[in-house]
Amino acid sequence: MTHNQLHQPHQLYIAGRWRDAHSGRMETVFNPATEAALAEIAVGAAQDVDDAVAAAATAQAAWGKSSGLERAACLRAIARGVQEQQEQLARLQTANNGKPLSESLIDIGDVVATFDYYAELAEQLDTHQDQPVTLPSVDFTATLRREPCGVAALIVPWNFPMVTTAWKVAPALAAGCTVVLKPSEITPLPELALAAIIDRAGLPAGVFNLVTGSGAEVGAALVSHPAVRKVSFTGSTAVGQTVMKAAADDLKRVSLELGGKSAALMFADADIEQALDIVCGGIFFNAGQMCSATSRLLIERSIAEDFTARLKQRVESIKVGDPMDPATQMGPLSSRQQYQKVQQYIQQGLDAGLKLITGGGRLPTMSKGYFLAPTIFTDVPFDSPLWREEIFGPVLCINTFDSEQGAIEIANQSEYGLVATVLTSDHERACRVSAALDVGLVWVNSPQVIFPQTSWGGMKKSSIGRELGPWGLHAFQEIKHVVMAAFE
Ligand code: NDP
Repeated sequence: MTHNQLHQPHQLYIAGRWRDAHSGRMETVFNPATEAALAEIAVGAAQDVDDAVAAAATAQAAWGKSSGLERAACLRAIARGVQEQQEQLARLQTANNGKPLSESLIDIGDVVATFDYYAELAEQLDTHQDQPVTLPSVDFTATLRREPCGVAALIVPWNFPMVTTAWKVAPALAAGCTVVLKPSEITPLPELALAAIIDRAGLPAGVFNLVTGSGAEVGAALVSHPAVRKVSFTGSTAVGQTVMKAAADDLKRVSLELGGKSAALMFADADIEQALDIVCGGIFFNAGQMCSATSRLLIERSIAEDFTARLKQRVESIKVGDPMDPATQMGPLSSRQQYQKVQQYIQQGLDAGLKLITGGGRLPTMSKGYFLAPTIFTDVPFDSPLWREEIFGPVLCINTFDSEQGAIEIANQSEYGLVATVLTSDHERACRVSAALDVGLVWVNSPQVIFPQTSWGGMKKSSIGRELGPWGLHAFQEIKHVVMAAFE
């Protein structure tokens, strides 16, 4: 293999080597843009999970005691490995997931930044360990230690395969946890290629393990395995609830990153051109398959008609097509299952007589692949499933508001609370509204930029805990205080 060739194994990675699943079974992975088979992947099951967790448990003691500097060196090696192969990784992810190549390259940049960021935090761990705590007594001293949780199960979905993986693997390894990763059955190829890079990064055998297979078998076996001490899950709210219940038996530590039904609040004083870009990016990036999709747009009534007309024009100019074409702005949905689910929502909207502004079904120009036209409904009733439920596709629902307070109330009327976007030229209003929204992250006049330094996660049914930043690292650490009576 030459330096630039991507190693794309299709087996399980356990205890530092590639091997077949016990079942010997393989499953086909598809390209959603062409519906063609891409690869055959090993189907893991509970016995493979046992092996992977045993390998992780064996490696845990030494890895947990290694220095932050040693762990940081591995994380930096992974970051450089990803960087060196960014073009190939981006093409592989696009082939498997269907997002435009330009978006895959953004994802890879995020992966590199995440591994570098947690390398930096790991480098600081040794000097930050055993920090003194100020006490109101001279008779005692106290110090704070942070220790790894232990073996961590990392379960990720298909919409941002490499990014969600990096957001878990990097902080877990930095904290000194050993891990077993379960990618989505739909998009395991990017993670398998990432595992091949991790394999060359100098980690001791057993520190990183990967088991492909279904959520019902591999995911469930991981979550209920008694030797797993931490579960970090990204996916649907329904499965997240199942995961939390299964983890409760052993009181495993749980981080959940779930769904959303986020709002963009468009005030009359906002910059219209900038707002058009932000609104489109918020719902049509990754064909709307984002937990952070701002799928509810609230427009101040005085500009609603004009802004909706301009939005329609802008959306109809979005180039949907072959995700490998650099000019493409939106690719297919990532799987037949998701394509059908989104189509059902659109049909439900049409059957209910909702006002369709644009789109509304399959893209007629594409003969193969799971392509839908970017779709907008307006005046959507607040009790409509399209307004309330996470569609996870390129479907925007619009409503109007008359006052700032009214906009905040509508935005907060959701069982989710992941993110929000505020569009206004009034700084004081931006601060007031941001403070009043029940979400984990607010973007003001900003596209959905994400920095490893800021947190990711939300309120209500969107999350338990936060990823990224020091919070992402702390999610894989236990806190220990040592309180000593003064020595004579
Ligand atoms: P799921 O929640 O079903 O899957 C997420 C991950 O969990 C996958 O790896 C899946 O495995 C695994 N899993 C499934 N069942 C279990 C289980 N019982 N125990 C442990 N792990 C399990 O999401 P989907 O991918 O099916 O998408 C369904 C919906 O979830 C979407 O339409 C969207 O609404 C939401 N979603 C939200 C995301 C977010 O980022 N917040 C991301 C993706 C989806 P398997 O390989 O079998 O799928």
